[in-house]
Amino acid sequence: MARILAVTNQKGGVGKTTTAVNLTACLAEIGQRVLLIDLDPQANATTGCGVVRSDALSTVYQILIGRSTMRGTSLRTEFGFDLMPANRELAGAEIDLINLGKREYRLRDALADIRGDYDFIVMDCPPALNLLTVNGLVAADTVMIPMQCEYYALEGLTDLVATLKKVRAKLNPVLEIEGLLRTMYDPRSTLTQQVSRELERHFGSKVYRTIVPRNVRLAEAPSYGKPVIAFDRGSKGAQAYLLLAQEVLDRYAGSAGRVTAALAGAGVEP
Ligand code: ATP
Ligand code: MG
Repeated sequence: MARILAVTNQKGGVGKTTTAVNLTACLAEIGQRVLLIDLDPQANATTGCGVVRSDALSTVYQILIGRSTMRGTSLRTEFGFDLMPANRELAGAEIDLINLGKREYRLRDALADIRGDYDFIVMDCPPALNLLTVNGLVAADTVMIPMQCEYYALEGLTDLVATLKKVRAKLNPVLEIEGLLRTMYDPRSTLTQQVSRELERHFGSKVYRTIVPRNVRLAEAPSYGKPVIAFDRGSKGAQAYLLLAQEVLDRYAGSAGRVTAALAGAGVEP
């Protein structure tokens, strides 16, 4: 049964898409069956996997409005995982869903069919707390929150945690915070270090040990339509996301041996 994980933060540009794509690719690399769902009309996760965001594409939009099924719509990428793509049409979902019943539950209901096909389903959410994100949060078991260690990040986090509480109370009682991920980390900045410590103090073990450094290869890979492990396997960015995949897996039982072997093969010291 797949573990369903929403990568979310209403703040823009914090590394959600980079995390969703690269975590997915690294989980696939270490033998997990993974589906990546692009829930953002910007479709950055779609193009980041080398899929052209054409208007003709069947996307998660058709799923949400009940015009297609998950199995009929997802694509196999060349990187060992499946992708449910997005395009600009998804921006209209907000309006189209208003008149449909159970509008917050549509993605969750659509995923019920295919949950058994995967070990992980990872969703890339848009930078907003809109109906698309709510569909993601209702479908999810857990939430992964990427964030930059800067002052405003902490304020945004308070809003996000309040929203998660509301969703848990009204729509999805099992929803939990999977973890907070420090992204684009620059250890030379004193403020970054302070915010990072503050996060650990407030959220304890919910903060991933793995820290994703600022790394230019992570920013370059999407323009080649590749996750970073397929673009520059030896880069610091690729190593960080392999370690993150290991950490995510380690939190769920039984796979440590396989992961360590795969990491050794990739030349990463755990
Ligand atoms: P949005 O809110 O618009 O969806 P996002 O939260 O998905 O944005 P990304 O698109 O993943 O954020 O990242 C924002 C920008 O920062 C992108 O140009 C990306 O390539 C770059 N970036 C992300 N992570 C890193 C990193 N660790 N090092 C360097 N650049 C990064
Ligand atoms: Mg994004």
